Amino acid sequence: MARLIDTLGRAARHNMIVRVECVCGNIRYYRAMDLATVAGAGCDPRDLPFRCTRCRPRPPTVTVLELDRDRMPRIDVWEPHKTDGKIRWMPTRLR
Ligand SMILES: [Zn+2]
Repeated sequence: MARLIDTLGRAARHNMIVRVECVCGNIRYYRAMDLATVAGAGCDPRDLPFRCTRCRPRPPTVTVLELDRDRMPRIDVWEPHKTDGKIRWMPTRLR
């Protein structure tokens, strides 16, 4: 059953994952919690300024996913790391 997830705060409470998928096949995953920390809990995940690094002008498709904790997919999530006051996103294995 699909739940209406309109804010990052709500998605973060459910431990959800945000999938950003470009038409070229480039997919990135983020923890809703990480995005909420960086962008703000009241932000709609679909309003985030995601851009594909390969084909910049085309806006990617943003989907909020609920993951089955018992059967975690082997995916990398992009985590924010703060260095010199700037945020760099780096991939790490989801567990
Ligand atoms: Zn692309």
